[in-house]
Amino acid sequence: MGMRRALYPGSFDPVTNGHIDVIYRAIELFDELIVAIAENDSKTPLFSTEERVESVRKSLRNDIPVQVLILDGLLADFAKKNQINVVIRGLRAVSDFEFEFQMALMNRHLHPQLETVFLTPQEDYTYLSSRLVKEVARLGGDISKFVPPAVATKLKKIYTPCL
Ligand code: ADP
Repeated sequence: MGMRRALYPGSFDPVTNGHIDVIYRAIELFDELIVAIAENDSKTPLFSTEERVESVRKSLRNDIPVQVLILDGLLADFAKKNQINVVIRGLRAVSDFEFEFQMALMNRHLHPQLETVFLTPQEDYTYLSSRLVKEVARLGGDISKFVPPAVATKLKKIYTPCL
């Protein structure tokens, strides 16, 4: 059997400790992980694609087999082109399930060999989302426990007028 590669796609706007937890779990299971940062997001992102890539890179140890790339277009096409058959997604709660289930089946329809593997983060991170982190930061709350230090710094810069 060749190298087992998996793809972890998402918006990562911004990356949180929940995403990081999923990344470290995934590399225990696969030889290489590609974190794919979605470019053409229907939601308007707070951070540019390049900033999101840089934040993920800065938040990971550099001795792990992870590549951080920009995902431009359909996930199924990207996976086919790069001969990847596994997609990693995080499942936090039942509320994630319906959307994730639809996506997994749609992706399999578009790329029949594609399997979706769901990983659950450490309990403390099950309530964490990029959306909530941005909301709390915007209202002046302390988000330093929920995101990597580089992200906390960026959020503070955006939302603290005098910095
Ligand atoms: P998307 O916009 O594609 O949902 P996200 O960046 O919000 O992108 O999430 C990417 C993936 O990571 C999704 O599968 C999501 O469920 C998962 N995820 C997000 N936050 C967490 C977390 N705190 N713990 C575990 N998985 C998470």
